[in-house]
Amino acid sequence: MKVPSKHAALSALFALFTFSAGAKEGMWIPTLLEAVEGEMQAMGLHLTAEDIYSVNQGSLKDAIVHFGGGCTAEMVSDQGLLLTNHHCGYGQIAYHSTVENDYLTDGFWAMTRAEELINPDLTATFIDRIVDVTERMAGAEDADAEREAIVAEAIEGTDLEGKVVAFDFGNSHYLITTRTFRDVRLVGAPPSAVGKFGGDTDNWVWPRHTGDFSIFRIYADANNAPADISEDNVPYRPAHHLPVQIGGVEPGEFTMVFGFPGTTEQYLTSDAVEFVINELNPMRIGMRDASLAVINAARASSAALRIGYADKQSSVANAWKKWIGQNKGLIELNALGKKRDLESSFAKRASQAGNRTYAACVPAIQALNAEYFPYQTARALFIEYVYYGADILNFAHAFRNAIESGAELEEKGEWQSTLESLRGTVSGHFRTYDAATDEAILAALTGPYIAHTPRPEFLPQALQGVANGTDFASDLFGKSIFDDEEALVALLDKGSPKAFSKLAKDPAFQLIAQLRSTYFETVAPEYGRLREALDLQTATYTQALRELFPDEAFFPDANSTLRLTYGKVEGSAPYDGMRYEPFTTHKGILQKYIPGDADFDLPEDLVEALRRGEWGGYGNADGDLPVCFTGSNHTTGGNSGSPALNGDGELIGINFDRTWESTMSDILFDETRCRNIMVDIRYVLWVVDIYAGAGHLVEEMDLVR
Ligand code: ASP
Repeated sequence: MKVPSKHAALSALFALFTFSAGAKEGMWIPTLLEAVEGEMQAMGLHLTAEDIYSVNQGSLKDAIVHFGGGCTAEMVSDQGLLLTNHHCGYGQIAYHSTVENDYLTDGFWAMTRAEELINPDLTATFIDRIVDVTERMAGAEDADAEREAIVAEAIEGTDLEGKVVAFDFGNSHYLITTRTFRDVRLVGAPPSAVGKFGGDTDNWVWPRHTGDFSIFRIYADANNAPADISEDNVPYRPAHHLPVQIGGVEPGEFTMVFGFPGTTEQYLTSDAVEFVINELNPMRIGMRDASLAVINAARASSAALRIGYADKQSSVANAWKKWIGQNKGLIELNALGKKRDLESSFAKRASQAGNRTYAACVPAIQALNAEYFPYQTARALFIEYVYYGADILNFAHAFRNAIESGAELEEKGEWQSTLESLRGTVSGHFRTYDAATDEAILAALTGPYIAHTPRPEFLPQALQGVANGTDFASDLFGKSIFDDEEALVALLDKGSPKAFSKLAKDPAFQLIAQLRSTYFETVAPEYGRLREALDLQTATYTQALRELFPDEAFFPDANSTLRLTYGKVEGSAPYDGMRYEPFTTHKGILQKYIPGDADFDLPEDLVEALRRGEWGGYGNADGDLPVCFTGSNHTTGGNSGSPALNGDGELIGINFDRTWESTMSDILFDETRCRNIMVDIRYVLWVVDIYAGAGHLVEEMDLVR
């Protein structure tokens, strides 16, 4: 694809905003901070843009970690110690938990380095540098080749990785080089009664009393470079680690959040917002209602299932609740009306300006959207059914090579290693697998999947004519081998490629193979073509908005790259007669405490410790233990675990959520309503040091007051 010729550079765009007031909306590219340095300093920043992001010296960015690809974390010691959210480390905490050693319920604290727990496949990525390559990309005949050349030049002879990322629908491009560590160990996690206090009830809700943190350590080789997991590795020495401020923050104080926001969709046109509200969200919410009913019942039935399905429950429930709030907020804020108003004044200004490209872009987007929506629906259904649905499907898919190419693998001498790796897959999968639960999930999702499939050709043959999801699932599980560990182990022991080839007829393998081929052959190519066409038009639209509405701010959407957002400590008044204070304390934990409740129970020793009130230097001036606070920093998913920093770049908290009234902010940000939620670092330290007795970890940190 050829990249559209560039209009004005983003840096020019940012220069404009220096003069606009109240710049709380926006996720700033760290290389362009000079444009807002003045405003940040006026709000209380005592650092320079160069202190935050520099390629010449250690800067704040060297303490910021892309954790596991989807979250953020921050370095807090010169020995590789990092803090992130409990919900970001949840998969690892659950992975190490058993009914006997239940770290989810009881918490986990490594008292020595030897006790830290290894996590296969967990990564921690640092940004080396971010370079604007827009001009080079705009001049390129072959964008893919140019991208590759830019990366190859940048990483040659280094241990870096690199990629060229499109920003703002391709209006600009940045080269981002990174260094990824592969040995990241679990060091500490509070009990879920702290780390997930309030459960699904309090998720996305203020006032909040969750200690949503966990602690890991990055290990490197003797040269401080990334290495595979090994006993020889040593704690990583970062170029910068954050000082930890235990003096607290005041209402109105400057804050910034530095991390990796995932996705925002601020430039959806009105028809697309209508589609999200009326079709996409209700469909996804409905499917998750159905699977959550199964998962929640299973988890309530036994300790093994409570642990085994903890991670799946969390990931299904998190977006499910967000979408519910998002729809509510979009409707309350009249997002549709606002988008339509913007589009009609846009049309007027574009025609006054006599710019036909500009005038044509919104109708062009809407025409493309009409074609795009069925593909978007099909893609969302595939994600829900395959990635958030029954685990038997992806598990069966892991056998594809052995089933389809066993003989060739044997010829190439790769058969034994294939069997070996499948043994690992089987034992990993069955550690927590429950066939009855999985069958019930498949039963619950099959009906909705079929009913929502927008076109007959998007439905795999195996699902055509299926009238009853329960019967379908029971038949599939009755015939498939993929829910039977013993049978699979016996097959692996026998090890004949021929026996594996017979599994091609297995109904679970058939179903996933057909789901994938239908999706990748019938849906994905057209989805991709339309997405590209939409990006081209939307690039013009964002550019035109900036030109035709010079007094308004239009920020580049989040795209999982490093961004800085800033605001201040403040509450909100989301509804008439209702006020949110910006701080919560330990008193609220005790007020919410309900013995025996799944979301609000507390361990006895925690209740006693909170009642005793010995804060060990982490209390506030009123003698309370601060727990969470809110701020007007523009954040989204992916900012989970991001450091909340004061004007001196000191750690004051860890970002983990947004308030219920902010859940629509990915599509429509509202400065009066949108608040991010952070756990106060003093609560984190009190839990680690005083409650859990893991003070050796706090000793590694640089505390300041
Ligand atoms: N709690 C959020 C998440 O799950 C963070 C956010 O979106 O604000 O990603």
